[in-house]
Amino acid sequence: MHSSPTSVALAAGLLTAALSLASTAQAQVLDAAGLQKIDAAIQQLTPKIVTWRRDIHEHPELSGQEVRTAQLVADHLRRLGMDVQTGVGGTGVVGTLKGGLPGKVVALRADMDALPMPENTGLPFASKAKSSYLGKEVPVTHSCGHDAHVAMLMGAAEALAGMKATLPGTVKFIFQPAEEGAPVEPDASGKVPSFGAKAMVEAGVLKDVQAIYGLHITANLPAGTAGYRSGPLMAGSDNIHIHVEGKGGHGSSPWSAVDPIVAASQVVLGLQTVVSRQLNISKEPAVITIGQIQGGTRYNIIPDNVEMMGTLRTFDEDMRQEALKRITTTAESIAAASGAKAKVRFGPVAYPVTTNPAALTEASLPALKLAMGGKAVVIPKVSGSEDFSEFQKVVPGFFYFLGAPPKGKDFTKAPPNHSPQFDIDEDQLPVGARSLAALAVDFLHRSK
Ligand SMILES: [Zn+2]
Ligand SMILES: [Zn+2]
Repeated sequence: MHSSPTSVALAAGLLTAALSLASTAQAQVLDAAGLQKIDAAIQQLTPKIVTWRRDIHEHPELSGQEVRTAQLVADHLRRLGMDVQTGVGGTGVVGTLKGGLPGKVVALRADMDALPMPENTGLPFASKAKSSYLGKEVPVTHSCGHDAHVAMLMGAAEALAGMKATLPGTVKFIFQPAEEGAPVEPDASGKVPSFGAKAMVEAGVLKDVQAIYGLHITANLPAGTAGYRSGPLMAGSDNIHIHVEGKGGHGSSPWSAVDPIVAASQVVLGLQTVVSRQLNISKEPAVITIGQIQGGTRYNIIPDNVEMMGTLRTFDEDMRQEALKRITTTAESIAAASGAKAKVRFGPVAYPVTTNPAALTEASLPALKLAMGGKAVVIPKVSGSEDFSEFQKVVPGFFYFLGAPPKGKDFTKAPPNHSPQFDIDEDQLPVGARSLAALAVDFLHRSK
């Protein structure tokens, strides 16, 4: 058992202790009194944050359908007296809090969407929601914890709104739709319109912003611990489509056909050598997985063609370009060897690598550590992807994980994000809210 339930009071005590140390050592950088104010405000707001999280959890909405959630957020931000924009990049909501003193502009981001899958947590506020996904009715569940993200950022927004007069600059609260994927299927040309973070960037949400912060809740880090790293944190991802064209025939006489099933099988095996034999993995790791193969209708018929889909994960743009080239050559050449033809395409969307710039990471770390009561650790790279990377392409952005395994569960064994059993420790919601607010205030107080 590595996780112990961290009470909010204990965390607050640690913070207070850390702050009193910091107030002498780093007075120019961090406003300790301001951070203490944040902590006091967040503690008061905790029951509301938990209520919001449960309400959103019980009413999850799929990517691009976050209408109720967006309304809840917009109403809240308006009540706080913010300038609120809705319908940004789809159902996105942006609240702008102009501080009483001049200064920089910093953004905090939360994603709002849920996943098309069942929930099996047994929670009293478990989702019973259903929606339409790719033409089918599906259950909808907040199994990635975005309900927690929204509730934490609503809490941070209220805490910071309460100290508006002394805020040196502007905080933008970005509530983003469709992080999990495109809300629509590709059109006839294989393209999908921009969605999620990219759509919000295209709508100009970062126009005046100098830095952006965001977090992801996880059950697989110790409770109340921030996990971060400088440089590549989460993988970039590309979808792989391979169409293997053979020549159909009778299963009893394969010599008169070109068997795309065997060619596709060889392609799948051949692709395993792209990472293990063809990429310089001493630089960064990479992953290629073929997760879908479709071909054939009957045991004794050789079909005309086979469709395959997979994913490429990389942490470096040069390696990504190299992998895209190698996948294409490997698939085409192997298929050609048996007289078949492989057509390879990627997309329709690609998530860039989530990378924390070294300078912003270093500058933000003291505030993160203070807000976390010292519990911030460097974590290994994560092969999952995150479209926070779209914001980081435009402005320096810092992304980190917040450990919140369910009470009494070992964080190494707790059901991960996207599991039907995924659950969190709500005691960590105020910790996350406090860290977001602290990072924003710290950024506004910093000279760079
Ligand atoms: Zn997710
Ligand atoms: Zn997520």
